[in-house]
Amino acid sequence: ESVIVAIDGPSGTGKSSTSKAVAAKLGLSYLDTGAQYRAITWWMISNGVDVGDAVAVADAAAKPVIVSGTDPARPTITVDGADASGPIRTEEVTSKVSAVSAVPEVRRIITELQRTIARGAEQGIVVEGRDIGTTVLPDADLKIFLTASPEARAARRSGELKGADVHATKQALIKRDAADSSRTTSPLAKADDAVEVDTTDLTLDQVIECVVTLVEE
Ligand code: C5P
Repeated sequence: ESVIVAIDGPSGTGKSSTSKAVAAKLGLSYLDTGAQYRAITWWMISNGVDVGDAVAVADAAAKPVIVSGTDPARPTITVDGADASGPIRTEEVTSKVSAVSAVPEVRRIITELQRTIARGAEQGIVVEGRDIGTTVLPDADLKIFLTASPEARAARRSGELKGADVHATKQALIKRDAADSSRTTSPLAKADDAVEVDTTDLTLDQVIECVVTLVEE
């Protein structure tokens, strides 16, 4: 039987590492929905669309063809056939993705894509994001909401970005989470039936173990 696991939460909570490891352990597919919003943002920037202009973003939203590879051992993302895995992680994309993902037409298109991928995953799937449990897959078999203190989240992100200034990273994270939480269409939010896991004082292995146990229950 195919199980659907939704893992939501702000950035720096260990969402991606946890989701990939849980999917790999349980033989499930994996979908990084943040990568899709980053991909559409990268396309907008590359094609000269002003990301501050919500009408222009909405008008262009259906143009890029975004394809996600769902193997947790080797997740991929392409835009119009080009590998986007590097470019979507730049600081420019990170600073603009909240504005693009707040445009309702963008969310409508990406949400539809996510539902199609989840429905097609015969062996089941772990889907990570911000609104998976509340909006994209409200019927998920298990919903997890990961949290962590702002300090822990900034420290983890700075570690990932190697040498990045922790204070600047913390400010940028707080700003992005605030934007993601305050948009009117499917904001970052915990579903009523989600299990909240505070990862501040847990190792990655402990978080993975906790989620695997919840899936197997
Ligand atoms: O998870 P990640 O940090 O890569 O997500 C990048 C951005 O994509 C988030 O800050 C948010 O603006 C957007 N996003 C979203 N809904 C999701 C996943 C990500 O709006 N389900």
